[in-house]
Amino acid sequence: MRDAVTAVPQHDDIERRVRRAAMQVIVREAFQQTLAEQDDEHRRPAEFAEAWKSRLAALLEQETVEVPGWSKITIADLDTDLGWNLYAAVNHARSEAIACAVATPSRPLRVTDAQTSSYEFSITAGEEHSLGRVRYEICEVCSVGLLLKISFSLEWQFCGLGTRALRQMETRHPNLTWYTTGQYAHAKGFYERYRHSSHSPWTEKQRPCPHF
Ligand SMILES: [Zn+2]
Repeated sequence: MRDAVTAVPQHDDIERRVRRAAMQVIVREAFQQTLAEQDDEHRRPAEFAEAWKSRLAALLEQETVEVPGWSKITIADLDTDLGWNLYAAVNHARSEAIACAVATPSRPLRVTDAQTSSYEFSITAGEEHSLGRVRYEICEVCSVGLLLKISFSLEWQFCGLGTRALRQMETRHPNLTWYTTGQYAHAKGFYERYRHSSHSPWTEKQRPCPHF
């Protein structure tokens, strides 16, 4: 008898946890839907937050939501306040991460030859949480820098972090003329805008110097 009595709150507890998990899934689904539009929309953080909010509202207005890996979720069973609290908490954490992101020290990558050296650093938020990274190679002899790769996951693009990373790179190696590899057509707009706001010279030429 005692077992039956204690089993009731446990059962409620499990149900509550399942409902909570279902709401987390819906908030995440709204986020993923918004993220999927980023390739075309290029939304800045505030605009992204609004779009995500609209997506979440639209999902919560439905009777049921189907998310891969889950059985059909009935919205009426859920606590929508919890959904909005989750949204607010994640959105706040995201804003904090963007505002407080810092660049790690440049780490030498490998010895290329006598005259050039390559480096990598990350943009991180909090303890070791990497949002993206930059790789570059420099030739001291010719005062040339080559941006090899700048990579941020879609989640952290269009947040000003790429600009912050390149500024940091220029600050660490002043008086260089910078080149890009030109391999990343989708990032061309970003480089173009950056070039115009930069104090360091950037060139469109493809071959930096004979030492690379
Ligand atoms: Zn050189």
